[in-house]
Amino acid sequence: MGIKELLFPPKCMLCGNLLGGEEEICSDCRAAILLNTAPPRMGGNGSYDLAAAGLWYEGSVRRAIHGLKYHEKQSYARPLARVMEYTLRHKLEVQPDLVTYVPTNPSTLKKRGYDQAELLAEELAKRLSLPLVHALEKTRETHVMHDLTPEQRRENVKGAFRLRCDREIVQGKRILIADDVLTTGATLSACAAVLKQAGATEVYGLCAAAGRRHTSRPLGYLEQRP
Ligand SMILES: [Zn+2]
Repeated sequence: MGIKELLFPPKCMLCGNLLGGEEEICSDCRAAILLNTAPPRMGGNGSYDLAAAGLWYEGSVRRAIHGLKYHEKQSYARPLARVMEYTLRHKLEVQPDLVTYVPTNPSTLKKRGYDQAELLAEELAKRLSLPLVHALEKTRETHVMHDLTPEQRRENVKGAFRLRCDREIVQGKRILIADDVLTTGATLSACAAVLKQAGATEVYGLCAAAGRRHTSRPLGYLEQRP
């Protein structure tokens, strides 16, 4: 054991229990956390072909993703990418040619110093022995989407992404887009549309976790309808 392990003994990334050995998630959490077994979603015309998530965005998984996004827990990308790899193999069952990610807002990136979706994509690409491509960039900032209806979400991300790499890199390719949380799929659709426009043959979305209520709408939605 090195001095670092003595001073900072490894802890479970989800609950903080002390760990022995190499694993990053303790046995209690392994028993308690549910894999997301919902079938893959289909995006439809001009969008992604299939999308899936490894876990449910709740409880300790939600806390872990918050840690990755807001509290500089970059190391959480590794175990999350492991679950994503499993999800790709057993749920999406597709064979992508390259891995990319949903880029974050430039202002957020500047403040935070890293892009959590890029970290997930990087770990995933390593595990799959596939190239990681920085295929997309944001053309403008988008708002936080928690309180928006599905329609508002689509409007919010419409035209918010563009191709960052050479067209030839994505042309004729099957592309896997990594992201942290899958909600309505609006962001994924906007990214996939750019890649398809550039000649990608298939686009798949793979997220660490998905919200359980991704098809629900706020009650206020009724008030906007006749
Ligand atoms: Zn734990």
